Amino acid sequence: MKNLALHWKIIIGMVLGVVYGLLASHFGLIEFTNDWIKPWGKIFISLLKLIAVPLVLASLIKGISSLSDVSKLSRIGTKTICIYLISTVIAVSFGLILVNVVKPGSTFSPEKRLELKEQYASDANAKILSANKVEKSGPLQFVVDMVPENIISATSSNKNMLQVIFFAILFGVSMVMLPKENTKYVKGFFDGINDVILKIVDIIMLSAPYGVFALLGGLVVDFGGSLDLFQALGVYSLTVIVGLLMMILLVYPLFLKIFTKLKYIDFFKGIAPAQMLAFSTSSSAATLPVTMERCEEHLGVSKDVSSFVLPLGATINMDGTSLYQAVAAVFIAQAFGYDLDLSQQLTIVLTATLASIGAAAVPGAGMVMLVIVLSSIGIDPEGIALIFAVDRILDMLRTVVNVTGDATVAAVVAASEGELKEVNPKDLMS
Ligand code: ASP
Repeated sequence: MKNLALHWKIIIGMVLGVVYGLLASHFGLIEFTNDWIKPWGKIFISLLKLIAVPLVLASLIKGISSLSDVSKLSRIGTKTICIYLISTVIAVSFGLILVNVVKPGSTFSPEKRLELKEQYASDANAKILSANKVEKSGPLQFVVDMVPENIISATSSNKNMLQVIFFAILFGVSMVMLPKENTKYVKGFFDGINDVILKIVDIIMLSAPYGVFALLGGLVVDFGGSLDLFQALGVYSLTVIVGLLMMILLVYPLFLKIFTKLKYIDFFKGIAPAQMLAFSTSSSAATLPVTMERCEEHLGVSKDVSSFVLPLGATINMDGTSLYQAVAAVFIAQAFGYDLDLSQQLTIVLTATLASIGAAAVPGAGMVMLVIVLSSIGIDPEGIALIFAVDRILDMLRTVVNVTGDATVAAVVAASEGELKEVNPKDLMS
């Protein structure tokens, strides 16, 4: 067990977690699981979240302050945002093409529609309420929200990651503009914090196999050990899954092939532990520390690039979420018997892209933004009740794609800057 690569240990943890969950549901160990197993999963996620803000702050400040001039930052920034947009639009388009070809909604019986609508009406309303808050704000609210008025309160919640990024960039850029002599202690401080946090990531990762065991065990018990509803929504779920697989098996390998020298198999080996955490936590934000560590230490992405590209990606680049939103929006429309015309489909491309940028990197966030996508094409947002039952599992899968997309873009940007170094094959999997 000791010499096993981390991702194998995590896979074993996941499998045992699912097996445990099935057995616990079967033997009625619900209370035991809630009291004694689930808390470990929660602790594991808290540990990951605990270091997200200090990590982003320290690594971005370290990364930017090491630049010799600010023009490199704006170059990396422009490239990053362009590639993020391109990959998101590809994802939404794939989703749209698939859902239009497969038409999962047209085979959906009206009885099932009523049953699910009634069963999930209150959950759906809660999401609609959150979405209404987002929708009421003006078009520039996104930019307004990015500028914090108080750095302490900005760093007090993981939800304000863009504000933290904004402050860190401002801080780092100011350091570059000052003579080195004036900032040497501040720089030493943030460099040191960065090293310490990375060590903490290593320590937390030692507990990852146990953490994912508890998370998945708890989840299966929550599902009641039954996958009945998954069957009812099988074709819809499969459409989303095929789209997500196309991103992982087609689009990202193509990006890597065209723009980098990194072999996809090596990329996959290096990033696998982050993908598994994304799956188990359903949160790109919680996975961020590990994504950064894997990209830097195991894929050879320079710290300058990863410290900028990955925190930004965790918040604004969600290919999996945008693909799912496109499929879900059209599925709900089909289930309600609407035929969407080309302009409505194009509206989906635009709103799903913007919605995935706006979605928080936490479980279930994509669904809140789906309400906005539905409203933009004139479909009753209560339709989300139809897909609630399978959302958690699809959330886990789309988060894997979100994280893989961020890592791919980090590798592409690093390669374009000549900052993707070759790694020792031993380091890929350790
Ligand atoms: N859970 C996703 C993430 O954190 C967001 C979503 O699609 O709900 O990346």
